[in-house]
Parts: sequence; C-alpha cells; structure tokens
Amino acid sequence: MRYWTGRLDRADRRRGIRPLNAICDDITTLSVDAIVNAANASLMGGGGVDGAIHRAAGPRLLHECRLLGGCKTGEAKLTGGHGLPARFIVHTVGPVWHGGGDGEDELLASCYRKSCELASAQPAIRTLAFPCISTGIYGFPFERAARIAIRECAAHTDRLITTFCCFSERDRNVYSQLLEEHGRRVAD
Ligand code: ADP
Repeated sequence: MRYWTGRLDRADRRRGIRPLNAICDDITTLSVDAIVNAANASLMGGGGVDGAIHRAAGPRLLHECRLLGGCKTGEAKLTGGHGLPARFIVHTVGPVWHGGGDGEDELLASCYRKSCELASAQPAIRTLAFPCISTGIYGFPFERAARIAIRECAAHTDRLITTFCCFSERDRNVYSQLLEEHGRRVAD
C-alpha cells in the first residue's frame, strides 16, 4: 500500500494501513492531494526539493508564489499544484540548523503543525506527503527531525493520511523504525 484515500477504520488498521507511513520516492511524482514544499522565506524557489517542485510544477507556481509575499520560518502557505499530480502545495520554511540552541526544534515542530493545520482546513485534502524538512541544505540532524515530524503529524493530522516521503532508503528506514516505535507507544 502506498497511498490511501478512503476512510481509515479498524479493519484497515488490521490490514496494515496506517494514517502515518514512510516511502522512498521523488515527492514531485506523488498522486496525493497535497505535497509539502521545504521552501525558503522568499517562496521564489531554490535548491533541493524546492527546486524540484518548482521545475515540475512549472512557471505558474512561481507566479502564484510571488503574490504571497514570502513566508516566515515555521509558518506555512498554500498554493495550487499547477503541473504536479498533487492538487495543492503547502509551502513551509524550515529552520537552518545552528547547533540546536536557536529554537530549531520548536521551529521545525511549527512547520509540521502549521502544515497539518492548513491541509486539514482544506476539505479537498485527505492525503498529504511531507519531504524531510530542513534535513538537506539546512543541516538539521535527520533522526532528531524525524522524531519531531512524527510527533507533530500524529498530533495534528486526525483527518489526513500522511506520508513521509524520504529521498533515500536509509532515510526511509529511520522513519520506518520510528513509526513502529510510535505505533507501539500508541497501542500501549
Ligand atoms: P532544506 O533546505 O529544508 O534542508 P532540502 O531540499 O535541501 O531542504 O532537503 C530536504 C530533504 O528533501 C532532504 O532530506 C533531501 O534529501 C530531500 N529531497 C531532495 N529532493 C527531493 C525530492 N525530489 N523528493 C523528495 N525529497 C527530496
């Protein structure tokens, strides 16, 4: 099972379908309702996943972003998906890692929380996919970021099926293990 767009009941859970799951893929190719972009404050595109999303979505995305007036670190803004299979993009700006003493954990948590809230408020969004925000060019330690991502999404995505879209098998394995731990804690 890669994506799930229906309602999640006890039988689904028994079949292994989970409201939170991890895959290894290129996020620009996913047929979910919304993907999240690890954007920069200008919202005008950049490197990494941001650049890939802008290239795949096409120039109309840049045009729409221009009208939004940027985005603060830890905040989130919604646009259309334009040329992407996903109908919407949630743009959020992760913190740059400065060693952990600069409020990085709380800012990253805010990215996930605000993205979930924005997506939850849009009735057309049932499935949402996140990249591993701040863990590339911004240098956030991977496992520390993944723990924050899982905690916040578990708390704020009641209505959504949420996929953590990793870009390597190694990253996906970290998520799979943490999701299993999380599932055991919830079941206790
Ligand atoms: P940041 O500036 O927030 O660190 P990056 O784009 O540099 O953003 O990296 C964030 C994460 O996105 C990294 O884990 C990177 O491996 C991953 N990534 C890069 N391109 C893609 C893609 N096309 N699909 C999914 N994940 C991607």
